[in-house]
Amino acid sequence: MATSSSTQLEIQLDEDDDLIFGAGSGWVEARTSCEHLASLLSDLVHIPTPDTPCNRCHQPSENWLCLCCKDVLCSRFVNKHMLQHYQQTNHSVALSYSDLSVWCFKCDAYLDAQVIPQLRPVHEIAYILKFGQAPPVRTVEFPKAEGNQADATSGS
Ligand SMILES: [Zn+2]
Ligand SMILES: [Zn+2]
Ligand SMILES: [Zn+2]
Repeated sequence: MATSSSTQLEIQLDEDDDLIFGAGSGWVEARTSCEHLASLLSDLVHIPTPDTPCNRCHQPSENWLCLCCKDVLCSRFVNKHMLQHYQQTNHSVALSYSDLSVWCFKCDAYLDAQVIPQLRPVHEIAYILKFGQAPPVRTVEFPKAEGNQADATSGS
């Protein structure tokens, strides 16, 4: 392990997560961490535009961008080319050009691109490419610094 700081969080993940999430709720909680981001490209600044067709079958829309090689491939609801790509290359993290969600095949879950630092830039770039503007900032509530007693009495 070359990581300088031990950022391993001891999260007790229950095996029966699926009982809480997903089951009929329609909303599946996106993961805020993923162990498979090491294979992500470092250069995700220059990415294909969201209207790029599938590289295999030329399906024009609703495609996925592989974040490991920038291949653009269609979804499992079309010709499953992104799924095949994962099975052939082990590239597991992809960004949806239809709703800009990020999916990890190995986690079998969506990833919260606005929370995960490695994913935030490419999500923002894809958003700008798709909508022509930056995504709305999801503000994190920081407690206000109580600076009432900070009267700098720099006298004498
Ligand atoms: Zn395809
Ligand atoms: Zn790939
Ligand atoms: Zn993962």
